[in-house]
Amino acid sequence: MRNRNPSSLIYTDVKLDRAGIKRKDEEWIASLKNEGLSRIVVVWRNRNLVTESKHGPRALILERKKSIKLANAAEELIFLGLDSNSIPVFAADISHLSEDKAKALVHRHCSLVDLRQLGWLIPRSEASLLAYARGITHWHRTQRYCGYCGTPTKSQEGGHVRLCTNKQCARPNFPRTDPAVIMLIEDPGNSHREPRCLLGRNERWEFPLYSTLAGFVEPGESLEEAVAREVLEEVNVVVEVKNVHYMASQPWPFPSSLMLGFHATASNTDIQVDPDELLDARWFSAKEIMTFKEWDTAVAEEPRLPRRDSIARWLLQNWLDNVTLA
Ligand SMILES: [Zn+2]
Repeated sequence: MRNRNPSSLIYTDVKLDRAGIKRKDEEWIASLKNEGLSRIVVVWRNRNLVTESKHGPRALILERKKSIKLANAAEELIFLGLDSNSIPVFAADISHLSEDKAKALVHRHCSLVDLRQLGWLIPRSEASLLAYARGITHWHRTQRYCGYCGTPTKSQEGGHVRLCTNKQCARPNFPRTDPAVIMLIEDPGNSHREPRCLLGRNERWEFPLYSTLAGFVEPGESLEEAVAREVLEEVNVVVEVKNVHYMASQPWPFPSSLMLGFHATASNTDIQVDPDELLDARWFSAKEIMTFKEWDTAVAEEPRLPRRDSIARWLLQNWLDNVTLA
């Protein structure tokens, strides 16, 4: 199977040197925090700062020297990395402030928005930076206490470790990413039947949006085994592990997943949907999928494509390319 370029996936283009070794130097990080030229990416309760331009929405990245009040108000300044001019970039979490106070602090001509509402409209490198800032600030907010002994933790290494402050414990806690598999399941067809792919409708969507199946990886399980288990659980279709192939990955910090995309071939085509997991699942030919509407159109009952910024859409488009160009 030919493969679309994985670098076309949204949220995969953070153009920063994360300085993984140097950021362990607390003095260096402290000096960067006071550097007037440093840049600040504001996050308030999973929302990012976005401004309107002539060409659509853009991320608003602030200069520290012009945003001293805001930098001082931040509960946490997390070092994200150095940009191409070696200028440090920090995430500033102001989630502890009320909405009114947060809004009063941010620039007048911008708004605090959920990246999921417009991520694909923002230039890719900016959307990726906002997703990175959103993901790591969420992790900080949810890891204030040590999971072993319950003592408060403190931020270290520029915000890439939270250390337990109980000296007897002193366990480091690293930013967490939850691996989730997402898979395009194919029925390759035969001389009487066109190739088809398996798409499901989740009850979370009020409208008939059909997407690739997905699920979290469990402890003690390989990625390929997770693909086979999820497909069996959700639609009772058998996939042999040897027929599962990795395609691409995408950070999905909503709030903390890493989506691992696969293509797999089904061994049978009879579907039995688990009603606890899905409202519906069907095999669709390329011709049928090409009649689907965009996910955010207003056509009530017609099937819709997965969101534009998702790896589900990328996997589906990749499959369509292969089937229609074959
Ligand atoms: Zn502890």
